[in-house]
Amino acid sequence: MLRVTDLSSYLYCARKLYLERVLGLREPYKPALAKGSVRHETYEAVVLGEEQIVSKISEGFTLADIQSLYRKACRDCLQKKIETYRLRLAKFGVDAESLFIKTLPLVIVEFDERALVVYGFMERHEVYGKELWKRLTPKIQTEIRVESTSLGIRGIVDQIEVYENGYVPVELKTGKTPKEGVWPGHEIQLAAYALLLQEKFQTTVKEGFVKYLDTHERRHLAFNPFTHDEVRELITTVTLLLDNWEVPDFVENRNKCISCGLKQECYNPLKIQALLTEKRPSTTIE
Ligand code: SF4
Repeated sequence: MLRVTDLSSYLYCARKLYLERVLGLREPYKPALAKGSVRHETYEAVVLGEEQIVSKISEGFTLADIQSLYRKACRDCLQKKIETYRLRLAKFGVDAESLFIKTLPLVIVEFDERALVVYGFMERHEVYGKELWKRLTPKIQTEIRVESTSLGIRGIVDQIEVYENGYVPVELKTGKTPKEGVWPGHEIQLAAYALLLQEKFQTTVKEGFVKYLDTHERRHLAFNPFTHDEVRELITTVTLLLDNWEVPDFVENRNKCISCGLKQECYNPLKIQALLTEKRPSTTIE
C-alpha cells in the first residue's frame, strides 16, 4: 500500500522516491527535520491538551485571559519537546535555548488565533468550562491515521477540524511558502487525505487548508471530482513506477539536486546498478 507522502514525493522527484522506496536508500537525518519535528509535536501536544485549557475558562474571562492559558500550554509543550530532541539537536550544533526562543512566538501566534475562536464561541453561546468544551465547534483532532484498501493508500492527517456538518483536513508545513496557493505536492497530499476521510466518515469533504507555519499563512483548497480523479491517476502511476525495475531519470529542475541528501548515490551509476542487482528478485529459467 502506498503512503500519501509517496504521492507528493513523486511530484518532487520520481527518481528520489524510487531510490528510497525500491532501492532502500535513506537521506541522512537533517537539522531541519529535527526542528520540524519539534514544531509539529508541540502543536500536537497543545491540541491534545486543549480540553484542559478550555475547561478552565469561566465566566468573565477576557480574550487575554484565554490567550494566556494557551500561551502557557505552548511554552510547557515546547519546552518538553525540545528536551526530548536535545541530544539530536546538539549533534547538529543546534542550541536548544536559541531554538526555544525562536520557535515559541511562531507557536504562540497559531494558538492566539485558536484562543480567538474559543473566545468568540464563548461570547456567542455564553457557555463556560466543561460545557464550553462539550459544545465548542470546531474541535481539532490531531494525527489521524487513515487508510483505504480500495484506494491503495494510507497516511496520517496532521489535523482535522470537526464541524457539526463535516470535516476539514489541515496540513501543517514548515519551510518555504509559495507566493500564492500551495505547492503541488501539498495539494495532492491534502486531496488524498480528503478522499480517505470521505471514505472513513462516509461524507463529502469539500475543502481543506495548508498552514505554512513559518509565515503564518493559511491557504485554502477546494476539492471536486477532478481533484479526486487526479489523485486516483497518480496512485496508479506511482504504483506502476514502484513495481518496475527501471530507475526514473534525473529530476528536470536540477536545482533540487543541490540540497538532496541522496545526491552522491544518485549520481553514481555503479552504485545504482549494484543496488538494482541486489534488490531485484532473480528469475530462474528452467
Ligand atoms: S539528486 Fe536530484 S535527481 Fe537525484 S534523487 Fe536527488 S533530487 Fe532527484
